[in-house]
Amino acid sequence: MLKAFRRKTNKPIIAIRLDDALVAELRAEGQADGLICPLCNEGLHFREGALVRAHFAHWVRSDCPACDEPVELLDARVALFTWLQTKFPETATVEFSDPDLGLPRPVDCWATTPEGKTLAYWLCRTRCDVMQTGDRSLSFRAARIWLRRSSF
Ligand SMILES: [Zn+2]
Repeated sequence: MLKAFRRKTNKPIIAIRLDDALVAELRAEGQADGLICPLCNEGLHFREGALVRAHFAHWVRSDCPACDEPVELLDARVALFTWLQTKFPETATVEFSDPDLGLPRPVDCWATTPEGKTLAYWLCRTRCDVMQTGDRSLSFRAARIWLRRSSF
């Protein structure tokens, strides 16, 4: 996953375009149980290296939906977020989840336009039933972006 909550600030951090000082800080925070999963509230550690995209991972394998996300999904999420951030730098985020919305799973990328329009994107590797919930109470319509199978 690309987002974690930091205990020391009680704010989210996104693991994209981090400088070396912040990488070291996040590693230390993860070791000290200072990073929390936004979905299940379990502890996370920070991973990053020459062959590993920066991301957060659970210390203990759980049934959290953020466990075991394929690197291709993270790569696609980073690309979409990076683009959204050029358009909506103040509101673009990743891995958006709000219990009040009753979403079947977190939205991969989310932004709000200056006019107040919500943009929500779910990235799908395979046929998914995210949109088959029939839940008409959702206050937005999420765009689905299919990842090509050949890219896996
Ligand atoms: Zn979790």
